[in-house]
Formats: sequence, structure tokens, C-alpha cells
Amino acid sequence: MNIIDGKQIAQNLRASIKLKVDTLDRKPGLAVILVGNDPASAAYVRNKDNACKEVGFYSEKINKPVNTTQAELLSEIERLNNSDKIDGILVQLPLPKHLDTNSVIEAISPKKDVDGFHSENIGKLMQNKPFLRPCTPKGVMTMLEATGVDLVGKNCVVVGASNIVGRPMACELLNAQATVTICNSKTKNLSTKLKQADIVVVAVGIAKMIQGDWIKPGAIVIDVGINRLDNGRLVGDVDFEFVKRVVGWITPVPGGVGPMTIATLLENTLTAYEAKI
Ligand code: NDP
Repeated sequence: MNIIDGKQIAQNLRASIKLKVDTLDRKPGLAVILVGNDPASAAYVRNKDNACKEVGFYSEKINKPVNTTQAELLSEIERLNNSDKIDGILVQLPLPKHLDTNSVIEAISPKKDVDGFHSENIGKLMQNKPFLRPCTPKGVMTMLEATGVDLVGKNCVVVGASNIVGRPMACELLNAQATVTICNSKTKNLSTKLKQADIVVVAVGIAKMIQGDWIKPGAIVIDVGINRLDNGRLVGDVDFEFVKRVVGWITPVPGGVGPMTIATLLENTLTAYEAKI
């Protein structure tokens, strides 16, 4: 069994971004907007801001009060769309309920959409002509690359079909010429499907849902899930202690996909910067 060390791969990626940034006169700029004061979202925004500083990016952290109106938020996005200093714009999700998330995402210029959620960027990914790709699935692709395993023709099962992880993940694997099955909460006989998979990616949000005897011996298992147990411990969607006994490769939680998501956000900001000059 091999561990895919997301922390290390992310550190290598950040180091290579920093090397590039050190050679640039104008620094790539990332703006992160947080609406409200949800502690988990605030922590994510702080981590993103720190990561920017570490690689030498220009960064703007914009905190808006919880009662910010849709018009105020759209006008902030418009200012950032027109700012020469800013190459990437990210609005931290989830937004307070009175705001329309979809129109906020669509208001971000697709050229600065470093989360890769704008319909234009999702469309490009679907057409296998990607530009800015959703960070978590792209980070998973970097981790799969690090295993050295050829993805062409492999049977992949993606569990979870959200717009931010499962769907773009399935698309990434298809673009890599794998054969992809995508599962959701209505899928029948999930364990039978998983047993056939060479590569499993799980993004559901149910602690330790995936059991050891559901996995084909030697498979690669990528655990995107982040769940906090009552005792405060963070665990993934995979029952790691049991699943690790059968796999070829597995990602831990924490220290797996999480750090890759932030490093990939920096990578996307550099891509947006390079496309602009
Ligand atoms: P969502 O809640 O948006 O989507 C969950 C998906 O899982 C849905 O498609 C749902 O199906 C499916 N699902 C629910 N129950 C089952 C089941 N029993 N069997 C199969 N599929 C099921 O979650 P997200 O995609 O946003 O996040 C998933 C997890 O990944 C969370 O734990 C989240 O914290 C984590 N995450 C981690 C990131 C990281 O950087 N490591 C980044 C983003 C998310 P249906 O469509 O039918 O409802």
C-alpha cells in the first residue's frame, strides 16, 4: 500500500509556482471575497490568503458583512473584473441564503474565474478544451499523475455528483481517456460498482462510508470527503483503517486532497495571469 502524500505534492507545486513568480515583474493577483462570518469559511479564506503570500502573489482579502446585498456583491466583482492587479477572483462558498450563488459565479469574468465554476469554463472542460479547471478535481488529477499509473482505459468510479467536485472530476477522468461511472445518492448496488473500479474517487460527505470489502485489491482510492467527528477528529468518506489494507494507493484525510485544492488555486491564478499577458 502506498500513501499519496497530498501535503508533499502540494508543497512541491507551491515551490515551483514561487520559483516562477520570483522571475515576474508584476505579481499575479488573487482576490478572495468572504461574505459573512462563518468560521469554517473564514478559516479557508485565511489559508488561501496565506498561501498567496507564501508564493509571492499580490492578494486582496475582502470581508463583506453578512447582510451584503446581491447588487453590492456584484458591484465588488465588477470592480475586481476591471482591476489590472487582479488575475483571479474567488467568492468563498456557501454564500448566505439571500444571495443567488449562480448569478454571482456567472458575474465573475471567465478569464478570472480561478475556481473554474463559471459555465464557460465548465463548458470548456466538457469539450476537453479546458482553461480554468475546478481546483479540487484538478488537484486530484495532479495526485493521480504523481502515482505514475497510466489512466488510459482504466475503470473509474466517482462517488458524488456535485457541480464543484463529482461532475468535473468525472469529466477530468474522461478527458484522460479513462472509462467513468458517476454515482449519486440514488445509485443501486454501489459496492458492486466500486468492486470493479481501478480508481475510486469519493466526494460525498459521509464519514467512513466506503468499506474495505467494497474495493478491488490494488485499486487507487482518492478520498475528497472532509467530515468532523463528535470527538473533533477529521476523517474522510473512506474507512481508511480497513480500506488501506486492500488498496494499491490511497489518500489520507487530513493531508490528502485538501492541501492540493489550495495549491491548485494558486496554479489556476498563474494560468489566468499567463493568459492575460
Ligand atoms: P455535495 O453535498 O454538494 O454533494 C454530495 C454528493 O454525494 C451528491 O451528488 C449526492 O448525491 C452524493 N451522495 C450523497 N449520499 C450518497 C450515497 N449514499 N451514495 C452515493 N452518493 C451519495 O458535496 P460536495 O461535493 O460539495 O462535497 C463532498 C465532500 O467533499 C464533503 O465532505 C466536502 O467537505 C468535501 N470537499 C472537500 C474538498 C477538499 O478540498 N478536500 C473540496 C470540496 C469538498 P445526489 O446528487 O443524489 O444528492
